[in-house]
Amino acid sequence: MTSVWIASPLAILAEAPGGIVVRGGRIVELVPAGATPSSAIDEVFDASRHVVLPGLVNTHHHFYQTLTRAHPDTINKKLFDWLKALYPSWSRLTPESMRLATRLALTELLMSGVTTTSDHHYLFPAHLDDAMDIQVEEARRLGMRMTVTRGSMNLSIKDGGLPPDSVVQDEDTILADCERVIGKYHERGEGAMIQIALAPCSPFSVTKSLMCACGEIAEKHDCRLHTHLAEAHDEDAYCKAMFGMSQLDYLEDVGWLNSRTWLAHGIHFSDDDVNRLGQHRVGVCHCPTSNMVLASGHCRTRELEAAGAPVGLGVDGSASNDSSNLMEGVRHALMLNRLTMMHR
Ligand SMILES: [Zn+2]
Repeated sequence: MTSVWIASPLAILAEAPGGIVVRGGRIVELVPAGATPSSAIDEVFDASRHVVLPGLVNTHHHFYQTLTRAHPDTINKKLFDWLKALYPSWSRLTPESMRLATRLALTELLMSGVTTTSDHHYLFPAHLDDAMDIQVEEARRLGMRMTVTRGSMNLSIKDGGLPPDSVVQDEDTILADCERVIGKYHERGEGAMIQIALAPCSPFSVTKSLMCACGEIAEKHDCRLHTHLAEAHDEDAYCKAMFGMSQLDYLEDVGWLNSRTWLAHGIHFSDDDVNRLGQHRVGVCHCPTSNMVLASGHCRTRELEAAGAPVGLGVDGSASNDSSNLMEGVRHALMLNRLTMMHR
């Protein structure tokens, strides 16, 4: 096993001004200022012109959208109209374009300091049955640690949903593929590089039955659950009209109000909702860049954290971010919270 000393960094986010020693993917020594490592070293990386940070973790993305960023039909639209403008292009996604989009997104993430990522892939037009397999292959190729989410949509326009019929699948097909990819790819324990999570797209694109079934499969295999929630104002109204209850009551009703779940966006929550999410340790992914592009609103990150909900950062899909740069997301999160929280 090779030992590498990342020596004398310009700055480092650790008590190690002399740098760190890495062996077998682990930090094995923190080096004091002016000292040399006490253990044997095979290689020295001169970091005197570098800043050393832990790898960033991106908790929400849609890799396939790297191919439709800055689309002219989407400018100045809110979430639902924005989605409807993009579905026709997305319905033409092929295995080749999926592979290209995945490789591009992973590369851009790596270049902005991300070493662990998830992707929420819920779009399955005809001939894209192996989308998950493509993503796992590409993540392994680039050495990224990844939670691949087997997303889904099964509620199209004809059933009162938002997406067109051409991009949804039926429940049996979805559930069979969830079982297949968990069995084939889900790694467990320390050092796992690929994990599978189940991720019905959102309450307005899947049936209640699919939400419940995914919750049961996730519990059976002890894997995570992910979906979009409370990104737009209209979602709570939609839940009330469609299911006769608020969005958080719906989450509880389908068996998702627990620490297995992390939600993308989580913007439009009441004080009571924030407390409930915290009490049940539901994770929330804050996507500041996307939220500003779509004028969706501002996630109450500090209140959520104070209530006990783990909060992470995400770039969201490139169609609502125009890049996959999480370092930019870190800066946007800081600036957005300055704007909205400092004088409360
Ligand atoms: Zn998203």
